[in-house]
Amino acid sequence: MKLTRSCPICENNTGSELQTIKMDIPSNIKLTNKYNIVSCNVCGSCFANTSSSAEDYDDYYCNHNYYGWWRSYNSSSESDYLSISRILDKWFDKTISVADMWCWNWKLLSFLKEKWYKNIIWIDPSYDSINELDRIGIQWAIGSVYGKPDKNFKKAKIVIMTMVLEHLLEPLKAIKNITDNYLADDWYIIVTWPHFEDLLLDNSPILNNFNHEHINYFSVKSADWLFGRCGFTRIEKHISICFNHNDNLQFSNIVLYKINLNNSQKILKMKQLLKVLMNMYQEFKIGNWNLLKA
Ligand SMILES: [Zn+2]
Repeated sequence: MKLTRSCPICENNTGSELQTIKMDIPSNIKLTNKYNIVSCNVCGSCFANTSSSAEDYDDYYCNHNYYGWWRSYNSSSESDYLSISRILDKWFDKTISVADMWCWNWKLLSFLKEKWYKNIIWIDPSYDSINELDRIGIQWAIGSVYGKPDKNFKKAKIVIMTMVLEHLLEPLKAIKNITDNYLADDWYIIVTWPHFEDLLLDNSPILNNFNHEHINYFSVKSADWLFGRCGFTRIEKHISICFNHNDNLQFSNIVLYKINLNNSQKILKMKQLLKVLMNMYQEFKIGNWNLLKA
């Protein structure tokens, strides 16, 4: 059948219906209260064939259900944070610039701050989410996964997205935008999302997993495909395990992706390096000349 929403991974627009989801949504929220879960006819990924638009979701996350500084975090988050900090410790030093993109709450950055990471910033589309961050000494900038950041934002070496992927209506567009507007050279992304295989064993109501917010699920293979389309390769993968608030075991995927530079990007980087070396040489030559004259 023809789909209302294209596949979030391969952008194909045909699929098969799996189950209908119905929800009670307050009338002041523009999101649809009914959709079908479908599987893509090309790549097999499962997602919500929702008729809600990107504007509807922007309005929802900015005005109705923002993830503010005050939100508590559960043990799942804490065990995820530990895995993330171990990845950072393994690959980078404490001065690495890290942007937490549209995150669950400020706890991850607070956790990293306690681990002596000095250059960390929270990116969020909503002022209401970030208005307390100055108080706890964490930098912030206004920005969204689909838009550009504040003009004073300096591009980060690593963007972290914790439990964001399953919320995105257009994940491919978001990753491309983050790569272009939020990441500096030698880009890295650390991303966490619910462990798909675990959901197969989950006997809780399906609305726990597919609802108005959770509209995509990814296996590691399908996430690799999604990030691969934006030029990223998986470097490292962990599965974080904990007990959730219902005392059920809960699993998260935690993956480090790195961009592969294409040939034109490599040539551009070589040119930039050459320019820096030429400037250094010129400064050295002028310095010596002045010394000789003195
Ligand atoms: Zn697909």
